[in-house]
Amino acid sequence: MKQIDLMRELSRKTDTKVLLMVLDGLGGLPVKEFGGKTELEHAKTPNMDRLASEGALGLHDPIAPGVTPGSGPAHFGLFGYDPIEWNMGRGVLETLGIGFELKPGDVAIRTNFCTLDDKGLITDRRAGRIPTPKCSELCEFLDKNIKMEGVKTFIRAVRDYRGAVVLRGKGLAGNVADTDPQVTGKKPLPAKALDAKSRKTARLADEIVAQAHKLLKGKAPANGFLLRGFSEYRKYPSFEEIYNLNAACIAVYPMYKGVSRLVGMTVIPARETFDDEIKTLEKHWKDHDFFFMHYKPTDARGEDGNAQGKVEMIEKFDQKLDRVRKLKPDVLIITGDHSTPTQLKSHSWHPVPFLMCGPAIRADSGKTFGETACAAGSLGRIPATSLMPLALAHAGKLLKFGA
Ligand code: ZN
Repeated sequence: MKQIDLMRELSRKTDTKVLLMVLDGLGGLPVKEFGGKTELEHAKTPNMDRLASEGALGLHDPIAPGVTPGSGPAHFGLFGYDPIEWNMGRGVLETLGIGFELKPGDVAIRTNFCTLDDKGLITDRRAGRIPTPKCSELCEFLDKNIKMEGVKTFIRAVRDYRGAVVLRGKGLAGNVADTDPQVTGKKPLPAKALDAKSRKTARLADEIVAQAHKLLKGKAPANGFLLRGFSEYRKYPSFEEIYNLNAACIAVYPMYKGVSRLVGMTVIPARETFDDEIKTLEKHWKDHDFFFMHYKPTDARGEDGNAQGKVEMIEKFDQKLDRVRKLKPDVLIITGDHSTPTQLKSHSWHPVPFLMCGPAIRADSGKTFGETACAAGSLGRIPATSLMPLALAHAGKLLKFGA
């Protein structure tokens, strides 16, 4: 039996509350300047250290040992969905993240405005990072003026120079390669179907790009249109169906809201800062029995290779935790979705530290929250998908299996 079917059978509704806090890209590697400590170990984190000494520690593998995950699949793993079986492309995740109502069979695509020269070569893949209001204006203009036969198209702004395109019609599939060549000095690539079912989508995508380029003529720096993350929407079993949880998401970035909506969480609007996220959590604490909170700055500093910056972002997160403590969650998990070592400036395969605390948790000898302490923690090294069952069990939400 698969884990989600087992959870469907064993989970029950209770009054207890679970809080899952994810610092994106939390895991790191030893930094020479920090005397061989990681950013998490070097950071001053009195609140997380206290939680670590009251609770239990461990490491999780987001997908499988050795596999470097994207943030999307890494979150499916944290939510207890086998990330290989339940993976979903960025187009769908970002489109759901802006609140667009997708229907099964829709194909959703991420789009970037870019700058093209007179020969049609890309000179800036991000169109000078046009601000969101400009992007909204251009998306509305294209949405109104692009006319396709036999298929409905929707074009929406996401953030900065990024938008989303949705195709709705018969016979569409999402297995199409990106048209973004990833470098400047080249023309956008034609859309290439990667299987026979996706040929119609690729043809329509080329047609949309051709119309967009005509319409955007003279609108430099945003006179080009690149398509990425083609994906076909399908419905996922929800947190309510699997876990009997009335779950909520508090996140700033659209993709994380999208992953959460896909699994049936209520996305509570929060403004830009972590302080806003905490305020939102406090305000809605009574309304839900599961909360997922996402914190992005740790991953951004990791990708920049900025070790000191990552330390500061971890400390900033820690400073707010006394307010979380006051809410008295029955189970609190603090972890990352994957590692983003500053030395690699990218996501990596390294297992990710986590701490779990609450009244029913047997404390281990770990006294600080860090990679080394977690490697010695009593919860061991487990797949990310095991975190949800452990959280539910410790919150008294799982019935006995068998007689
Ligand atoms: Zn991530």
